[in-house]
Order: sequence, then structure tokens, then C-alpha cells
Amino acid sequence: MFEDLLRGWDGEHAVTRYDRPSDSWILVCIHSTQLGPAMGGTRLKTYAGPEQALADGLRLAAGMTRKLAVLGLPCGGGKAVLAVPSVPDGAERQRLLERYAELVESLGGSFVTGPDVNTGSADMDVIGTRTRHVFCRSSANGGSGDPSVHTARGVFHGIRASLAHAFGSDDLSARRVLVQGTGSVGAKLASLLSEAGAEVVVSDLDEGRALATGRQTVPPDVALETDCDVYAPCALGATLSAETIPRLRCRVVAGAANNQLATAEDGDRLRERGVLYAPDFVINGGGALHGIGLEHLDWDEARLELEVARIGDTLTRIYEQADAEGVTTAEAAERLAAERLTGGAVSATARNAGD
Ligand code: NAD
Repeated sequence: MFEDLLRGWDGEHAVTRYDRPSDSWILVCIHSTQLGPAMGGTRLKTYAGPEQALADGLRLAAGMTRKLAVLGLPCGGGKAVLAVPSVPDGAERQRLLERYAELVESLGGSFVTGPDVNTGSADMDVIGTRTRHVFCRSSANGGSGDPSVHTARGVFHGIRASLAHAFGSDDLSARRVLVQGTGSVGAKLASLLSEAGAEVVVSDLDEGRALATGRQTVPPDVALETDCDVYAPCALGATLSAETIPRLRCRVVAGAANNQLATAEDGDRLRERGVLYAPDFVINGGGALHGIGLEHLDWDEARLELEVARIGDTLTRIYEQADAEGVTTAEAAERLAAERLTGGAVSATARNAGD
């Protein structure tokens, strides 16, 4: 199974290690170093088996190549998966991260990592004790900290660009936006939108979190049917499917969640319904710009803000290209990523990948 997965993958290489003390698999997948060192988060997760973990890592690494290329960053794509029997904490977690960090260090900077599912700045601090090739450590440890503020700002710029394309004006004052998920990104996005004059409606499985935003709430099971101009998915992926798309009552879908389309065909379904879709791997790139820009490219805050604002410009270009070529916005985004790589077609693995 490992053989089949690696044979069928178009990336550069994967480093696989069985970590005996924790009975875990450490899988570092380096999809591309064509534009620069491979960058990607460290995912700490339980899987049905090591094959499923490797499949996830390979797919996610390809998605990072596409994402960082479309953002115009001089970086390749990678991803690390720590496939654990159960998510550890305390000393056990620390020791696993240290052993993993030594492996990252041994790769000589060809792979640089940051937070992902189940890992955060505190884990990056631990990794940073054994390797320089890490970003988003806490600010107390010299890192750039939580990237969600810039993810939210990037989505905000993306929403404005989407409104301009859909309605001919990016003015938010007459617009109604549904923010689904009021966690790290969604709560910040809701504030930015309100400050710009939008009417913001929020929904979260955790009702307390939704209420804490001080805005009108809708129950999660009917959120998608909310009458609004913009639906901003900021919770979980795959909310756009054959079943949900007919129920949408919005003109634009633009939010931070990863892997919003359940299948590639859902991009066509949205287009057929006249819903403008901001490709997730473009609009949610502010977090990547934060970690990589501040720590790897020596940007200052002003440069970071400029680059985050450019997410809106990139989306405008994608929308214009999609219109001109009669393709979905997701397809146009993939074409832009391919242009920024070798000028060749974006890989099949990347097309099916998320981050
Ligand atoms: P988070 O865990 O802080 O918040 C997610 C929120 O969604 C939680 O409050 C949770 O209760 C809520 N939620 C879960 N299922 C829901 C449902 N069915 N209906 C309504 N609410 C639901 O996560 P986050 O960091 O804010 O990230 C949000 C999304 O954006 C995720 O998909 C993440 O992968 C993506 N993303 C985040 C960043 C970042 O910088 N944090 C960067 C890129 C992409």
C-alpha cells in the first residue's frame, strides 16, 4: 500500500519513520521544492492505519504546493503527519515532538513546518528547541504566534473583492453576511465585517461562542438556508455539496474553511446556480502569509498587510479568468497556480488536495 501510494504520487519524496517509543508514524511529505523549501504544517492525528496517514500527508502536501504558488510565495509545498494511537499530552507529547523535530532538522531546511490540526504555537515552541526550520512559535519564543488574525483579514479582503465582482461594488454597508463558525478566524472576521458596516449573522455548534460575538445567531442546522449576500464558511470543510448547494440563498461563498467543496463537481454546481465561489485555498492564505512572510521572508507588518490585501487582487484575477475562459473559479485558481509553477498543468494530486 505504501508502495502504491508513493508510485501514484507526483511529489519529490516522503520520509517515513516508525517512532517506537510512541508507537506512532512520522511522515514528512515533500511535494515540491521547485519554488523554494517545502513549507507545510504538522498534523497530529489518529488514523485507521499508517496508509491512511500517508495518503493524507501526500494529498495535503500537494495542496500546499498549489496554495503557496497561487499566493506568489517563493516556497514549495510539504506536510508532516504524526499518526498517533491517541493524541498525547504532557511529557509524552513533548518527547514525540522533540524526536520529530530532530528529523526535521536532519532534512537541512528542505522542509519547514508550522501548526496544523491539533498543533499550535506551544508545540512549535517545543519543535523550535531542536530545529530552526519551524514557524509560528509563540512571540515569547521569537515566533510570529497565532496566524488567525491574518487569515481573517485575508478573508475580509477576499469578500470585498467577491462583492465587487458580483455586484459591481465592494461596499459592505448594504450587505448581509453569514459567518458559519465563530472560532479563531470566524469571530475576528465577524468583527471586521461589522466595522465595515455589514449586517453580520453568525452560527456555531457551540451556541455560547456564537452568542459571545454579540450578533444575531442562527441555529447550525438551518444556517445554510439563511438569506444573505455572502455565506462565509469558517467552521468545517465539505459544506458545499449536491445536497446543500440547492439550499443556498446567497450570491457569494467566501470563507476560511479548508476543502469547502465536497467534490470537484460542486464547483460546477455553484457556477450553474450563479453563486460566486472564492476558492478556499486562495482566500484562506492569510495565515500562511503570516507565518512564512514574517519568519521566513523577513517581512515587516506593513509588507504583510499589503500581501494579505493582495488576496483580494488575486481573487479578482481568478474571477476574470474564469469568466473569460468559461471555467469554474476553482479551475481558474488551479490554472493560476500551474502558471506560477513550471507553466505546466497543476498536478492531479494537487487538484484533489486540501490543506
Ligand atoms: P476553530 O476551531 O477555532 O473554530 C471553528 C469553529 O467552528 C468552532 O467554534 C466550532 O464550534 C465551529 N463549528 C464546528 N462545526 C460547526 C458547524 N457544523 N456549524 C457551525 N459551527 C461549527 O477553527 P479556526 O482556526 O477558526 O478555523 C476555521 C476554519 O478555517 C477551519 O476549516 C480551518 O482549517 C480553516 N483555516 C484556519 C486558519 C487559521 O489561521 N486558523 C488558516 C487557514 C484555514
